[in-house]
This record gives sequence, structure tokens and C-alpha cells, in this order.
Amino acid sequence: MAHADDAVAAQNDGTEMLIIIGSGVAGLTAAVYAARGRLQPLLIEGMEPGGQLSLTSLVENFPGFPDGINGFELVDNMRKQAERFGTRYRSATVSKIDFGQKPFAVHLDGESEVLRTHGLIIASGARARTLGLPGETELFGHGLSTCATCDGAFFKGRRVAVVGGGDSAMEDAIYLTKFASEVHVVHRRDKLRASKIMQERALAKDSIHFHWNAHPAALLRGDDGKLRGLRLETTDGSGKTEELACDGVFYAIGHEPNTDMLGGALPRDTQGYLTAHGVVSDIPGVFIAGDVADHHYQQAITAAGTGCAAAMEAEDWLEAQGLLRETAG
Ligand code: NAP
Repeated sequence: MAHADDAVAAQNDGTEMLIIIGSGVAGLTAAVYAARGRLQPLLIEGMEPGGQLSLTSLVENFPGFPDGINGFELVDNMRKQAERFGTRYRSATVSKIDFGQKPFAVHLDGESEVLRTHGLIIASGARARTLGLPGETELFGHGLSTCATCDGAFFKGRRVAVVGGGDSAMEDAIYLTKFASEVHVVHRRDKLRASKIMQERALAKDSIHFHWNAHPAALLRGDDGKLRGLRLETTDGSGKTEELACDGVFYAIGHEPNTDMLGGALPRDTQGYLTAHGVVSDIPGVFIAGDVADHHYQQAITAAGTGCAAAMEAEDWLEAQGLLRETAG
């Protein structure tokens, strides 16, 4: 059996057989399959190692865990599993990929280093969306957050707001009731987008208050530079506003795909997510998995499924090109 310590750069000239970009569920599942297929994958971990799931508290819908599992633990297990079969990890971000060159040229961290690879799986995921309100940049870390799991504990006994009406918003609101005295959900419509079970749980909590048909028009900052509240505006066009005093605001308004490093090389849908034929991209040797190509399901299990499929397609493609070699086994 190949082992991480035995795994060497894929070819004598340093060209990798397969690079996987992204260390979330899709990338790690691709790594498990590719490593077991003796592709000796190199996985580039990116800015948020572990991806979105590692920021989730309790994952209750990943099959196989009847009592749920902590998101970080689930991802960490996948990482260890992929490593056991020979996956190598690189802590770096990809700044650019030159698809015109064969093998492909993968530029790391501001082009200071360039890796070469025959095959590529793009599993770079998606990042939390923000509202673009004035003062946002300064207030991140001073009351404003996109990660309740990471920052919720700072708001013990305080009043907080969650913006959004999807599953993430409900999950965050419920999680925040562990710490905050009051949680105010601000949603731009009068119906939640979240799944029924999450809606029911959130609506049943006395400490969660809903502000319907409202959206944050401004972030309010105190003299100490910290967030002190939100100015809410109604979405019915009446222009009515109200101030919601709170110490913390959590954005939970969906995600944007991480595609900056691709330039305009691959086609996208209207929301900027990559489009492909299943997991097979328009560029031979390039495969796509996970949330970077999925604005609809965005589930850990669907990301895992496409990660598996991408690795299997990559293996078939590398074999058809005569690029697979015998490895120490
Ligand atoms: P989402 O389902 O896209 O919901 C985003 C929410 O933010 C929507 O309610 C949307 O309002 C609102 N929103 C978007 N842009 C906004 C803006 N500019 N201003 C104000 N509000 C805005 O995203 P998500 O909640 O992150 O969920 C993504 C996927 O992950 C979903 O498939 C979800 O099921 C899944 N997920 C599942 C769980 C779970 O099962 N426990 C947990 C988290 C996420 P509208 O409703 O008006 O569009």
C-alpha cells in the first residue's frame, strides 16, 4: 500500500499527476479516491482549510452518523483518510492557472512558485457573501461576522442579529441562542427559504425574534469603533426604518464561488458558478467538484459525491493518456 511518506513528486521532472485545488469535502473525497487509485494527488489547501463544513457545529444530515457529527471533526477525518492512502498536502493558495500550457501551470501565492500537473480537479468551494455596506471591512472582527460557529461565544449574554432566511441563517440563529440573550433574524421576505425542520426549530425558540420584510440599510458603529446595531429598512418600498441595537451581526446570506484564479477560462452560470458536463470541464484533464459548481444543493454529501466522480474521471482520463505509472504498493 502506498503511504504518505513514500509519495514522491509524480514524475522525475517534478510534474504532478494530479493536483486537487480545495480542502473541503469535495477536494478531500476526490483525494481519498485519487490516492486509492495510486494517483499520488497533491492537494492545495487554500485560504480556508477544511472549507465551509469545518465551520459548522453539528452536522446532522451526513449519512452514517445517527447522532450527528461536529463539522470540523468530519472534515479532519476525511483529511486523515486521504493522507493514509498517499495524498500530499500543500498549505498555499492558487493565484492563477495557465491552461494553455501542457502540463498545466499552477501558480501559487502570487506567482512565486509554479507547479506543473497533467490532471487538475477544481474543488475550490464558495465563500460567505457579504452585503457591501459602508464600514463592513472595519467592522469584521468588531461585531460583524460570517461565522456563528467561530465567533458566537464572544456574545455571551448579548443581543445579536442574523441576516438571512435560509438554512445557514436558521442554523446560526439556533446556535447563537446558546450564548446570546436575544437573537434577531432579519429577513428580506415574509417566508423563510430554510428547510421545514430548521424553520420549525428556529420558530419554536423564544429567544429568536423575527424581523420580516426588512433588510440592513446601515451598520451602526459606536464611539469605540465596535458595532452597536443595524438600521433596518422595510423591503415593501415604504422606506420605513428602525434601529436594532445589537452587539453582534452575523451574515448568513449565501455564498459566492471561489473562481478568481481561473480568469475567464471556464464557463459559468448566471450566478458565477462553474458549469461542466457532470464533473468533466470543457478543458481535457480538468475536472470540477463541489460547491464551486453548485449553487443549488450545496450539501456536504453532494460535494462528496462530485469529488468521488471527479477523481474517477481523472483516473480514467490519465489512463487514456498513458500517464498512469506503477507506484510503490
Ligand atoms: P441560501 O439557501 O441561498 O439562503 C440565503 C438567504 O439569504 C436567503 O434567505 C436569501 O433571501 C438571503 N439573502 C441572499 N442575498 C441577500 C441579500 N443581498 N440581502 C438580504 N438577504 C439576502 O444560502 P444558505 O442558507 O447559506 O444555504 C446554502 C445551501 O446550504 C442550501 O442548499 C442549504 O440547504 C444548505 N445548508 C443546509 C444546512 C442544514 O441542513 N443544516 C445548513 C446550512 C446550509 P431570499 O430567501 O429572499 O432569497
